[in-house]
Amino acid sequence: MTAAQAAAWGATGDHSPLMDNYGSPPRLFVKGSGAELYDADGTRHLDFLCGLAVTGLGHAHPAITEAVAAQAGTLTHTSNLFANEHQAPVAETLNRLIDAGSGQVLFQNSGAEANEAALKLVRKYQGRGRHGVVSALRSFHGRTLMSLAATGQPEKHEPFQPLPEGFRHVVWNDLAEFERSLTPEVGGVILESVQGEGGVNPADDDYLRGVRQICDERGLLLIFDEVQAGMGRTGTWFGFQHAGVCPDVVTMAKGIANGMPVGAMWARDDVAAAFVPGDHGSTYAGQPLALSAARATLAELERIDAPAVARAHEATFRSLLEPMAAVDHVRGRGLLLGVELTPEALAGRKAGDIARACLDRGLVVNGVTPTALRLAPPFIVTEEQIAEGVEIIGAAIAEGAA
Ligand SMILES: *Cc1c(COP(=O)(O)O)cnc(C)c1O
Repeated sequence: MTAAQAAAWGATGDHSPLMDNYGSPPRLFVKGSGAELYDADGTRHLDFLCGLAVTGLGHAHPAITEAVAAQAGTLTHTSNLFANEHQAPVAETLNRLIDAGSGQVLFQNSGAEANEAALKLVRKYQGRGRHGVVSALRSFHGRTLMSLAATGQPEKHEPFQPLPEGFRHVVWNDLAEFERSLTPEVGGVILESVQGEGGVNPADDDYLRGVRQICDERGLLLIFDEVQAGMGRTGTWFGFQHAGVCPDVVTMAKGIANGMPVGAMWARDDVAAAFVPGDHGSTYAGQPLALSAARATLAELERIDAPAVARAHEATFRSLLEPMAAVDHVRGRGLLLGVELTPEALAGRKAGDIARACLDRGLVVNGVTPTALRLAPPFIVTEEQIAEGVEIIGAAIAEGAA
């Protein structure tokens, strides 16, 4: 950070008032507009990360700003002891977009909480003795103890052992191994349709269809964690729709309210019925302020046909990135893409170093594995901005490859 950014940050002296949980931040951003971010020095950056696949409509979108500002001046919070005017319309929209038969929604505040609720729902629905849950290696489901236990990254577990028991992790896209992992205590499965944090790894359509069939045969609940892949980002409203399979439970967060903290769990009616008053709860969840943003965001995503926009932009990204010598391949779907770099392009660097070089040239992306960049730009990005961003990636690679 520059001196101006450090001053705006307000952390002075050698003792930071903030816990060092995220490492030292490279930028302090103070303003956003569409696909652009401005730091405290006024330097413009293109945002191809969207705060981790969150701000799909771009920063300071007028329709969302207006809805939130109006709600903030009217009624922000009442708790779940009372109803508010946004809950049913938002839930109905999610039910329609999920398009998997009649279901119901429970609002939460984040992705981890939505998954926590889903994992508790498995226990309640299946009963004692069937609390086990299978998930995939390299998956990411959140940082609470249960969602961490579901996360298939053992190195993240170690400092926090013992974790809740009953979780097991299987190789991604391997149906035979999935079937072998099923013991009588397993009651559910949680999968991402595209693994986001794990490296942008899409599920094979056949794998998801096979998992669905096995879940049907054995009475297992199939939870799709659509926290990152959902809300149109992969070119369908939800990633599991590429495979044409129906979920029993869907969890959502990131793209749902363009940056206001909203999470949600959807479940088929008969599964949802397992939760009765007193089983779960959250003080903030479903509050009018956050849901005013979700309502406006969903309306705008539908108006622009976000999945179609994601597919069109994907084609542009692929046409520019795939011919580059530095790019081994592009994986992912829609506007959730992993750009695998060749060893020559990396030239001893990690993808995170390339992302940092991009940042210094005014482009926000991240290194999702040591060898791949993640691109999750907003739907409202323009063709010119895509070309500009890809050019920056090329320049950042070239700078160290020479
Ligand atoms: C980010 C993410 C989560 C966790 O969401 P938080 O809002 O950070 O708790 C869960 N699942 C997936 C697939 C994610 O990408």
